[in-house]
Amino acid sequence: MRLSTVPPVPADLSGLDLSVLLENYRAIVGARLRYMDDRMSDSTSFPGASRTVSDWWSSLDASGSAAGLRRGLDDGMKRLARLQHLYVTRHPAAAPAAAALTEEHLNVLREAVAWISMMDENLQSDWRHLGWRSLVEEAFGKGVGTTAALACFSETAATLERLVLESEVGKVNSGKGFVLDPGLPDSMAALAVGRGPESYIKLRPFMVTAATRAQVVAGLIPPLVHEGTHANEGRYTVDLIYRKQGLQAALTPDLRLKNAANYEQLAVDWLNAGIWQRIVGASPPKLTRTERAVVIMRLKVARAWVCADNVKVYEVRDGRMRFKYKNFRAVAAQLIGAEAATVGEVLSQVLFEELSDAADTLMKIVGDVRLEITDPPTVMVSVDGRVLGSIPDYISTAGEIASIALRLVVTDLARQGCVAFPVALLRWVDKVVDEDPFIASFSTAVTDFINGLATS
Ligand SMILES: [Zn+2]
Repeated sequence: MRLSTVPPVPADLSGLDLSVLLENYRAIVGARLRYMDDRMSDSTSFPGASRTVSDWWSSLDASGSAAGLRRGLDDGMKRLARLQHLYVTRHPAAAPAAAALTEEHLNVLREAVAWISMMDENLQSDWRHLGWRSLVEEAFGKGVGTTAALACFSETAATLERLVLESEVGKVNSGKGFVLDPGLPDSMAALAVGRGPESYIKLRPFMVTAATRAQVVAGLIPPLVHEGTHANEGRYTVDLIYRKQGLQAALTPDLRLKNAANYEQLAVDWLNAGIWQRIVGASPPKLTRTERAVVIMRLKVARAWVCADNVKVYEVRDGRMRFKYKNFRAVAAQLIGAEAATVGEVLSQVLFEELSDAADTLMKIVGDVRLEITDPPTVMVSVDGRVLGSIPDYISTAGEIASIALRLVVTDLARQGCVAFPVALLRWVDKVVDEDPFIASFSTAVTDFINGLATS
């Protein structure tokens, strides 16, 4: 979260809707203040200082001249920055120490990737009596499903082999091969960055001893397969559904081929199987209504998170911002009220950055075991064991439970100052699957799948 950042103010406000502009900056500053207030309530001087800044922002007026408002916004941001400085001296950012990749790390990774290549050979093998083929057939469906899954698996093994070769021992954040990143959350062992030849994989730093080595290698295999499929150029995957409670098996065969967790599951099954053992792979689990609600939330939030990151990406050419997903950005701007024609280019980008941070915060809760929804008779929504609210009995479908639970989580994040625009975030999560080019590439398969879960 960029809580310590102070949003920039455009140099020239003429031609922009001043009251919309002021409203937006106030929402951002208000969230930053709530965030700090929440964590500084035991200080004697901070609450007063924060109140002064808040009052000052309330006194700003959009009915005067553009130049006058610009000076006001600028001054307001300086006041916010001074307050943030106070906050930071009490809460120094726990910046994780940088970590360089060691020879030992690379050896362990090389070993894990060698196992994955061997897994690939096993799976591709025509020796049907070994049972590997049936593992793939069970997981992805016979015929076309199996062929496509095997092709993806082979590309993944090749991608991971490339990353071993490109890794740079002794370097911090080389942006090549395997890179250690102490900043990855605890729930995430690895994270693919990019796709195709430029892609690389970040890993949470890990320790290896002679006694734990085999275990570390085995533990790396499923996440490497998962992230490796994201990093592929041709047959890449996304995260429609994570591997929690076997829910990835509930996807339709078409969607399983594009979902990283299904390949990750294949790796887990392969590791658990004795080589002569014939396996019956995952079959779609019977989900309760609240479990279906959680699947819907995870799927929507995961896409909202990825898409929010995509639409903010730009490069500057000839002094102008060029957005990577121009058309999608225009649709997105409309959804979240960030159209450059109304709020200007600077604030528009600020709003997209806020959206992306908010989606990231939401993802860390919804995409993790931190979120819990209990089954009826009392449907309770809690995060980290803290109850946010309950959903009444007469709410009957998984879709309704999902949207109420999302609202509870987002409202709670807004209260804590982690989300400045809760309404825009909820709208984004709700609507982005309809606009997402990736989802559209499946025609209606994903939305049909969601609707099936929602209404059943
Ligand atoms: Zn993933």
